Amino acid sequence: MLSGWYIALARSHTHRADALSTGQDPGGASHGGSDATGLDTALLDQMPEAVVVCSLDALCVHVNPSLERHLGQPREELLGRRLWALHPEWTEPSFQERFLQVARTGEAAEFECHTASQDRWFVKRLFRVHERVFLFARDITAEKKQEATLRALYDEMRRAQRHAAFLAQASEVLASSLEHDLILQRMAHLAVPILADACAVDLPMPDGQVRRAAVAFSKQALAASAQDFQARYPIRLEDAAGIGKVLRTGVTEFTPDFPAMLAAAQGGDPAYQRAVEALGISAYIIVPLVSRGRVLGALTLLNSESRRRYTEADVRLAEDLARRAATSLDNGRLYTEAQEAVRARDSFLSVASHELNTPLTSLMLNIQALRRDMEPRASGGPTSPEALSTKVVAVQRQVARLSSLVRELLDVSRITAGRLRLEREDLDLAALTREVVPRFTEDLARAGCVLRLDAGSAATGHWDRLRLEQVLQNLLSNAIKYGRGRPIEVRVGADASRAWLSVKDQGVGIPPEGRARLFQRFERLASERHYGGLGLGLWIVKQIVDAMEGRIVVESVPGQGSTFTVELPRQPG
Ligand code: ADP
Repeated sequence: MLSGWYIALARSHTHRADALSTGQDPGGASHGGSDATGLDTALLDQMPEAVVVCSLDALCVHVNPSLERHLGQPREELLGRRLWALHPEWTEPSFQERFLQVARTGEAAEFECHTASQDRWFVKRLFRVHERVFLFARDITAEKKQEATLRALYDEMRRAQRHAAFLAQASEVLASSLEHDLILQRMAHLAVPILADACAVDLPMPDGQVRRAAVAFSKQALAASAQDFQARYPIRLEDAAGIGKVLRTGVTEFTPDFPAMLAAAQGGDPAYQRAVEALGISAYIIVPLVSRGRVLGALTLLNSESRRRYTEADVRLAEDLARRAATSLDNGRLYTEAQEAVRARDSFLSVASHELNTPLTSLMLNIQALRRDMEPRASGGPTSPEALSTKVVAVQRQVARLSSLVRELLDVSRITAGRLRLEREDLDLAALTREVVPRFTEDLARAGCVLRLDAGSAATGHWDRLRLEQVLQNLLSNAIKYGRGRPIEVRVGADASRAWLSVKDQGVGIPPEGRARLFQRFERLASERHYGGLGLGLWIVKQIVDAMEGRIVVESVPGQGSTFTVELPRQPG
């Protein structure tokens, strides 16, 4: 409809002579209503759109005030010039071709264009009416911006919907099991290919290594090259960037475009950089799996051949996923620990009943034998005092064993209830050790162990005497029990602030994987068939040492022996 109006406007004046070529002015002043060409310009001049009227060979016949303003030049300087010379955008061949095509064919054209220098958008219309080409340019920057805002909002909404759907699915997957690696494997598979071309979950191990617990790839080829890479460049917790750093610091690492940053992790080694480039990584996100302030692992999302870019929104999604995964892992861990505690308690109950039963049975047998010995006999004389005394000594030993077991049990319930109270006094650890060691003479002789004591110099401090005796007794009886009849060394020493006591045996030793469990309640590493014990002694020792603000460490080589060292501050802090 509008184009019909333009045509009417132009047609009504085409009978006039082309005054531009003759130099006449048939319409009077150019702002009066018609210009030098006889064109009625009054309407054009009122229009908010920029308008230029040209001859078919693009010479400018009329411009309206809106265009004058836009070009920043008065009409007089524009008329008679070729259209391409008026504005840099019009120098473009595509624009010129369009103009000439409209001039040639008379077919109108409408198109949008962007003025990069001013960041403005225009919709342009070209019409030919007889011997004139009209160019109308309307500024649509505001509409375009609005449209872009709406599109961004729409995209954001779609993204949020996709992310919410993904997280809902992830939550289901994460809740589907309590088994650590299975949860992680399912999560990695869920992330590929929705979020990444490759996804990995790495966990820090107590020995400082990093374990890859789960991995998923969109393509088999990528899996193979990633595996090679991992074998050549294992992840280390001390890495300056990448997974090691995220595991160490708990801070997300995000690179929208593939970085020199990862390469920096290996100190800019060119072979490493080539290997990284060969992986074809275009972007990555590494987020920590944090629960209750602990970094449990790191989730890595990699993009390679898909050339997909990551945005802050993807980082937020990855962090959200990692948070949920960490909670799931934590729940799994708590569940395993709870199961483990129940297992340890059950096995403790069976060990305890066995342990209590053994001396009790011997005790009963010895008492029965003593009773028989005391009964008048039909034949033979009274039992010799030596034979009686042997049995009484055995009874004493069994009662002592029973009472020590009961004391251990009582200690556990007391300590667990938080009732380990220390009765501190000034004492000498060396003197105390010299006093306690002889009590083990008989046990040492029975086990065939020789004990060497190095406690010549005083090691004084403010400690609880009975509790220290208990520590010493536990360590000594373990050394005798697990020492296989080999020599035992006990040393006491002190410096200005600390005193220490070490008990060294040359016995069975402790495997490295067992050391973490050693000081836990109800834990026994040795087989109960070969060695008696409730698995409480070292736990009690650790509680006592902790209460005295000290520490206990163990060094051991399986098959060669163990050294337990207790270190105590001489004065409480
Ligand atoms: P138990 O009463 O079973 O000996 P402890 O708490 O004293 O309980 O010790 C826990 C476990 O630690 C033992 O079952 C044993 O496996 C191991 N252990 C303790 N001391 C030694 C040692 N000197 N040498 C080897 N193993 C030891």
